[in-house]
Amino acid sequence: MSNQDVYDVVLVGTGAGGGMMAHFLATHGVKVLNLEYGAPVPTEDLGSFEMFHQAFARMPYAELQKALYEPGPESWKRSKYFIYQNECDYKTAGEGWYWRRYRNVGGRTTWWAGVSPRLSPLDFRAGSTDGFGPDWPLTYEDLEPYYDWIDINLGNAGPSMGHPDCPKGIYHKPAPLRCGERVLQDAVYGKLTREFPLMQCEPIRKMIATEEMGPGRSPCYYHGACWEGCAVGARFDAAQHLIAPALRLPNYTLRQNAVVAEVLADKNTGKAKGVRYVDRLTKQSYEAYGKVVVLAASAIETARILLNSKSTLYPSGIANGKGQVGKHLCEQIRCLADGYLPQLYGMKSHNDDGYGGNIYMPRFTRTYQQKAGFIRGYEVRAGSGKGINGGVASFGKDLKAGIKEHYQAHLFLEAFGEKLDNPGTYVEIDPSGAVDSYGIPIVKIHSALHENDRKIFGDMQEKMQILLEATGAKNIQIDQVPPTPGISEHEVGTCRMGDDPKESVCNSFGQTHQVKNLFIADGGFFTQATEKSPTITILALARRGADYLVEELRRGSLQA
Ligand SMILES: Cc1cc2nc3c(=O)[nH]c(=O)nc-3n(C[C@H](O)[C@H](O)[C@H](O)COP(=O)(O)OP(=O)(O)OC[C@H]3O[C@@H](n4cnc5c(N)ncnc54)[C@H](O)[C@@H]3O)c2cc1C
Ligand code: SF4
Repeated sequence: MSNQDVYDVVLVGTGAGGGMMAHFLATHGVKVLNLEYGAPVPTEDLGSFEMFHQAFARMPYAELQKALYEPGPESWKRSKYFIYQNECDYKTAGEGWYWRRYRNVGGRTTWWAGVSPRLSPLDFRAGSTDGFGPDWPLTYEDLEPYYDWIDINLGNAGPSMGHPDCPKGIYHKPAPLRCGERVLQDAVYGKLTREFPLMQCEPIRKMIATEEMGPGRSPCYYHGACWEGCAVGARFDAAQHLIAPALRLPNYTLRQNAVVAEVLADKNTGKAKGVRYVDRLTKQSYEAYGKVVVLAASAIETARILLNSKSTLYPSGIANGKGQVGKHLCEQIRCLADGYLPQLYGMKSHNDDGYGGNIYMPRFTRTYQQKAGFIRGYEVRAGSGKGINGGVASFGKDLKAGIKEHYQAHLFLEAFGEKLDNPGTYVEIDPSGAVDSYGIPIVKIHSALHENDRKIFGDMQEKMQILLEATGAKNIQIDQVPPTPGISEHEVGTCRMGDDPKESVCNSFGQTHQVKNLFIADGGFFTQATEKSPTITILALARRGADYLVEELRRGSLQA
């Protein structure tokens, strides 16, 4: 590539938001240069077939965690795509932050579990409903056509539920429920809905094709651990389903191993004119130029790029005139619980893998949370079969018998609650001046729990107990303390969208208030976290932003 090339769009990142932008822009004739920190993941590294049977079900938990998340000869396949401290450090303050950074074509959608709840109409107006934070600068109705487009074109399985926190969608058939999941469902509908009228316990919605979708997309085999990478393409991932088709087009160029350091601004117009990036293999610096720059490097990394883009025009970083970049970092607080179902003790091992947890319970807290003294709420996911949570401690023959007895009787619950934006949780460039191995200043992530987060966590613990007891579960175990922040991997909000430029970084299309030809297209643009897993909404917002961008390019309104 010559330094003189000027693309219509220089796009950073190929994950959920970047992949969607790349695909839509390229298929609409826009000349795109897509810069990606990592490289493509070969099919043999998509390990969901092996994972469930070889590791998850056999390794002791501590060893499994090591294999999954630490570098070394025993590391599991996807850990090859993590960034470790020797390459790019980060610092934390306060409660700490666990920032697991995957760098590969497809971003984290290569490794995600696929859980895909739409935001509900109520979420978009949460701020004016309970007085905490701003409303989103768009409504559910604005985003609905894009959610529908995703369901139809990218595949989404699940039931269309009638629930205020579960808008209807256009779904493939969901995976059949396992025995333990049916026990939970019976317990909810038989014992708990009188006290909790919004409690529903139905198949989960996941961006997984369970029906034919044409070439390159096999329907799901219900075999295992989708979060290790789906080699048959049943579970949506951006590399296989958005970037691969774009790569066939002459107007789309992917530059892998390109670590973007900063956005370059035109001294005269103040507009973005491109980016500077470092080749990951040679460590040489390059510049790439475009009429428009779109950042989709994920919430924390995009904030880092913006804050590192300092010039006389933008002394505190580009698009940061009001000091909003890096603020409002939020995510979800998680509470895990599990137990054994005595009804299923001794059940013969059989093929009921499904696709991870098959149950979803949308937010049921709205009817009692005011009395309980918290705002917002949480969702619960659940799964069963093939697992051990202790309680069979012994040796030799007794241990074997204990495992056989309990193995199919395991039931687990995962609650995800909304963490509120708070002034103690934000990202800044580390004031010590430390840089990574490419010479790029690193971030410091500050984090603090809001009092409301603690109340939500307490309520999750209480309701996990009630749910498990209702099933008759034994050996109940429930998280006792909130996990390290960041562990949900659902971080959002660092460049939030809003109508008020003093309190937000971009508008509802991801266009930054300060620089009209600079866009955000990743989780950073969320206004609030909500309790719902973010990725389908990142995809829908990026698709809407891409629509707008194509039209603005056509009109010539963004040109430098
Ligand atoms: C194991 C796991 C399970 C998950 N399960 C779910 C789930 O069930 N449901 C759900 O909604 N979400 C889930 N998530 C979260 C989901 O993957 C993220 O919300 C989503 O991928 C975020 O999209 P994004 O576009 O913001 O960033 P990403 O998908 O992370 O993409 C960012 C891209 O930018 C690239 N990049 C980063 N820095 C630079 C740079 N400096 N220069 C160039 N390129 C750069 C990265 O390599 C990557 O390709 C899960 C995540 C993990 C890891
Ligand atoms: S989507 Fe289906 S086929 Fe793909 S990894 Fe998950 S369970 Fe396996």
